[in-house]
Amino acid sequence: MSCKEWEPVKKEDYKGVWVYIETDEGSIKEASIQMLSVGRNIAEKLGTYLAGVMIGHNIRHLANEPIYYGADKVILLDDSRFYPFYSRVHGQALVELARKYKPEVIFIAGTMRGREMAPYVANSLRTGITADCTAFDVENGDLIQIRPPFGALMLARIRTPNRRPQIATARPNVFEAPPRDEKRKGEIIEEKVFFEVPDPGIRLVESKRVKKEEIPLEKAEIIVSGGRGLGSADGFKMLEELARELGGVIAGSRKAVDAGWIPHEKQVGQTGISVKPKLYIAVGISGAAQHVFGIREAKRVVAINIDPGAPIFDNADYGVVGNYREIVPLLIEEIRKRKKEKEISP
Ligand SMILES: Cc1cc2nc3c(=O)[nH]c(=O)nc-3n(C[C@H](O)[C@H](O)[C@H](O)COP(=O)(O)OP(=O)(O)OC[C@H]3O[C@@H](n4cnc5c(N)ncnc54)[C@H](O)[C@@H]3O)c2cc1C
Repeated sequence: MSCKEWEPVKKEDYKGVWVYIETDEGSIKEASIQMLSVGRNIAEKLGTYLAGVMIGHNIRHLANEPIYYGADKVILLDDSRFYPFYSRVHGQALVELARKYKPEVIFIAGTMRGREMAPYVANSLRTGITADCTAFDVENGDLIQIRPPFGALMLARIRTPNRRPQIATARPNVFEAPPRDEKRKGEIIEEKVFFEVPDPGIRLVESKRVKKEEIPLEKAEIIVSGGRGLGSADGFKMLEELARELGGVIAGSRKAVDAGWIPHEKQVGQTGISVKPKLYIAVGISGAAQHVFGIREAKRVVAINIDPGAPIFDNADYGVVGNYREIVPLLIEEIRKRKKEKEISP
């Protein structure tokens, strides 16, 4: 069924795959670099070019980076009006560039900013958007946008058959960053502001960098994660102790976040963060599909659960059946003992 308001476009007029390259404080967001590996793959399947699109101020020195990571060209819009980031302003710039160059696909990393801006871009261009994709493919010239539907185990394959560009986002860490190669060469197209820059509608009054002493969850090599089975916020104190002994960080399931035992930025899963540690210890977590989605890149999963039938054991390399209140202290004790032995042994 074709939409009455949005007439089909001539698809052959649209060429190229774009990745919106988000910059912040003089560097490119890792999540945008990860999208370049998706972009490269899809551009090759479509037999077209891959471009990184950069919008900001004082970002010219970063313009080669997308090329080093696989882009054929970079479209650069560097102007003082693009600092600070306002989703309406940056979004409108992307819309105007898309109207001018007519790309067939735009990928946007699902960061806080990307998630705010992408729907604005899609709606302004009167085209479809799929958020939080986990895989992509090409069929008959259309981008297949694959993602788990809410709360289900299946995968939905979504396409935008009549409109262009096809827009999709993916969460940080769902895809691996491509290798960086400084020998790669490409074209840098320096654009000027050829459109009316809209009023942002809001004003940034102050920005403060929140000090994060801990290793960010996305980069942590060891994660000790707790779920509703902990029974209370106090349970996390025990997990913190275990994480400290192992040199890791703590995280939690959505149920633990909903209970207010751990902040949302520590939530692992489909609507949280995708992690890729060497070791993930799931304590009192049942192993719902939405949680397991976030740990599929973990190298080793250890599950501690009182219920031998808990689905988490199907996704664990090692499982301990029992009450975490008994098992975690034993683990901490054993780790301390072994550390001591190491100190003593010659
Ligand atoms: C659209 C959507 C998105 C979602 N996104 C996410 C997401 O990003 N992340 C996420 O985690 N969830 C997400 N969920 C929720 C998900 O479906 C589950 O409800 C949630 O993961 C369950 O959390 P849990 O394992 O902590 O709790 P429960 O499912 O209640 O499991 C608690 C576990 O603790 C065990 N237990 C109890 N007492 C003890 C004890 N003393 N010692 C050891 N084990 C014990 C129990 O046997 C049980 O297996 C999402 C759901 C939807 C619908």
